[in-house]
Amino acid sequence: MGWLRAWVVRIGAALAATAVAGCGGAPEGVVPRAGAPEADAQPETTVRTGAVSIALAGDVMLGRLVNDLIYEAGPAYVWGEMLESLRAYDLFLVNLEFALTSHTEPWHDGAFKAFYFRADPSAVESLQEAGVDFASLANNHALDFQVAGMLETLRVLEGAGIAHAGAGENAAAARVPAVLRAKGLRVGVVSWADYPVEWAAGEDSPGINFTPVSVEAEDFAAVERAIRAAREQADFVVFSIHWGPNWRVRPPEGFRRFARAVIDAGVDVFWGHSAHIVQGVEFYSGRPILYDTGDFVDDYAVDPEKRNDLSALCGEMGTEVVEGEAGVLLRPAGR
Ligand SMILES: [Zn+2]
Repeated sequence: MGWLRAWVVRIGAALAATAVAGCGGAPEGVVPRAGAPEADAQPETTVRTGAVSIALAGDVMLGRLVNDLIYEAGPAYVWGEMLESLRAYDLFLVNLEFALTSHTEPWHDGAFKAFYFRADPSAVESLQEAGVDFASLANNHALDFQVAGMLETLRVLEGAGIAHAGAGENAAAARVPAVLRAKGLRVGVVSWADYPVEWAAGEDSPGINFTPVSVEAEDFAAVERAIRAAREQADFVVFSIHWGPNWRVRPPEGFRRFARAVIDAGVDVFWGHSAHIVQGVEFYSGRPILYDTGDFVDDYAVDPEKRNDLSALCGEMGTEVVEGEAGVLLRPAGR
């Protein structure tokens, strides 16, 4: 099962709220969000213990040969030996790199795309088997089978109780954050893509939540607004983006600037995907930037040098919530 890899994020959170008087500041590695009390102010600081664990996977593509495998071996089979550990996470988030639809007419603008990914709606059972809680839809395959295929994907996910973000009937709908709940922690997820621009949802037209990778004020304002909206509804915010070309090994400087600006705007975990290759991880202001989480389930050919089948990287995180503001702690973890 060489196609199975996982990003694993463990987030400690709101199991038991304990008042800690005279707390001398955050534990090593924990950086409270701006607005949290100064350590020397000695406020009654709320430290929440326990753990909410979140697994972040990159691309999950259940079409083509994988869909055939689901028919043959059942919906759980595609997760292989990781199934039990995936089920154990409080939250499991994936990038849905295909349409869950019975529509078979591919999208094209005169020219056809190189790849179209579609699985039968019944393949949603595979997502349920692994306990997928959230599907990121802002990507370059959500509209592979036209708007009808995308809208059916939304209905299928909703029918299965799987939250989603990043695509919708119009730009406002595509931008709405998902809010997941686990052990009292509200986790907001926003989903963006930097291509294809021709699929960008409009004021009155369906599509994906598009943004250029730009920190220029006129481009970045919408990103900031969406993050703010997510923060108003959630204790912890994950920023998903499908960005950059396939097979790129490391993020260019402009991507790094963008990711840091996203953290500055109030995000706790930056979750990139699209390259099919795991790129670097950076900690910025105490927050992890996962530049590209690679592939997770697919039937893609393996590049012998780029090794898109070796995208396993895991982290273990703890979170301390100080006066309602979450800090993030990463402990190295192997898997
Ligand atoms: Zn993609």
